[in-house]
Amino acid sequence: MFRKFYNWLSNDLAIDLGTANTLVFIKGKGIVIREPSIVAIDTKTNRIQAVGSEAKQMLGKTPANIVAIRPMKDGVIADFEITEKMLEYFIKRTKTNNTFLKPRIVIGIPSEITQVERRAVKDAALRARASEVFLVEQAMAAAIGAELPITEPGGNMIIDIGGGTTDVAIISLSGIVISQSIRVASNEMDEAIIQYLKKKYNILIGERSAEQIKIQIGSAFPLEETMEMEIKGRDLTRGIPKTISVTDSEIREALEEVVTKIIDVAKFTLEKTPPELAADIVDRGVILTGGGSLLKNLDIRIREETGLPVFIAEDPLSSVVTGAGLILENIDLLQRVGQSN
Ligand code: ADP
Ligand code: MG
Repeated sequence: MFRKFYNWLSNDLAIDLGTANTLVFIKGKGIVIREPSIVAIDTKTNRIQAVGSEAKQMLGKTPANIVAIRPMKDGVIADFEITEKMLEYFIKRTKTNNTFLKPRIVIGIPSEITQVERRAVKDAALRARASEVFLVEQAMAAAIGAELPITEPGGNMIIDIGGGTTDVAIISLSGIVISQSIRVASNEMDEAIIQYLKKKYNILIGERSAEQIKIQIGSAFPLEETMEMEIKGRDLTRGIPKTISVTDSEIREALEEVVTKIIDVAKFTLEKTPPELAADIVDRGVILTGGGSLLKNLDIRIREETGLPVFIAEDPLSSVVTGAGLILENIDLLQRVGQSN
């Protein structure tokens, strides 16, 4: 009875502090915020101009005194202070009028962050009026969000391809048995497309156009039907805008090196996996999550190269926050995987 009343009053939150996107889930309501982890700062006054989508719109288009920053860039907190401010901003945005109880907050954090950075994330949440803060590794949260049976004794392999990092983890009995993280993921694909087009067509395109190309015609394995796309950019010799047409096979070539690095880290992790758990993975397969797993035919490519069954999580951009939300709603799970310091 009391529990029910408390649930009605409280505003408990689960947050995925991703390198590309931050998602916030309110207990009982679901996902309420889904925004790029970007902050626009006025360098003259040092004040925040915009956060999230609004700041992303400004990428590459800012006047000299405004910079758009991705504070979580490589899965480590590249910019402490701005990460804190961004987190505070998102937490404050969830405030509804009828809540006077301070929320408990579960935050999914990158696996590679240091003790000092963990402290900074916690403090930022506490400053934004959290009553209690629990940190959980994103790989663990993603596995829970993807509904893997992580509390059982058996190996589960999850590959989370985010914006800044690719994280591979083998999980069994609610713990991470082995994990590997590389600072090569989906943002690096955008960069690879920019470099490729520059070299081949002498054209310069922006970060956001590169992302669009990747999403629309990028792939990791030949497509059933070929695709083509018109691209606008700046001709590097003449300095004027120009339009070219590129095909899926060219973009595949551009992405090859990044895709290979991602697959190599998965293979490397498999080599280090204890045989009993490896046997489970042969049966259960590998789960892909994170926005990068939406690259066309990446699942097929990984299956080809590892011989393992490969599945993409149901909603790969939300696995971490969904998992963190499940942890928030399940005290038992919270005690097993939540870290309060
Ligand atoms: P993070 O957890 O690091 O915040 P996300 O899991 O949110 O990252 O993934 C963001 C990345 O996924 C971005 O680089 C984005 O370009 C990429 N992405 C999103 N949708 C697609 C898609 N359909 N195809 C390929 N890449 C995608
Ligand atoms: Mg993520």
